[in-house]
Amino acid sequence: MTEGLSGCVFCRIVAGEAPAEIVHETDRIIAFRDRNPRAPVHVLVAPKDHVDSAAEIGPEHGDMLAELFVVAAHVARAERVAESGWRMVTNTGPGAGQSVFHLHFHLMGGRSMGWPPG
Ligand code: AMP
Repeated sequence: MTEGLSGCVFCRIVAGEAPAEIVHETDRIIAFRDRNPRAPVHVLVAPKDHVDSAAEIGPEHGDMLAELFVVAAHVARAERVAESGWRMVTNTGPGAGQSVFHLHFHLMGGRSMGWPPG
């Protein structure tokens, strides 16, 4: 299901070809606001290089994932949810609700969170 640059909306955001409100980026990671926020803070944190989903993660992605979580914690602090608490979730596969097949983590905060997620 790997899509090229032209077919993947998150690859287009990374390339600057589609609009997004980017809140933070590094050489490898981009964080931008979800266009349909489900919480007061709802930021998507993704690798710039295309990976379809968590199901495709391998040992070669270790450094990238560490950086992604460092970026997430930075964004949580910048968005002022570090103390109140925040959640990171990645939907993997259509049955789990994945609709964009470029690996991304939903960073959500600013309201109380139910468990388990629906
Ligand atoms: P998922 O359904 O887990 O794959 O999450 C995809 C998320 O991407 C959804 O929450 C969408 O609202 C969000 N989304 C889709 N397209 C865009 C876009 N162009 N800019 C920002 N967020 C987007």
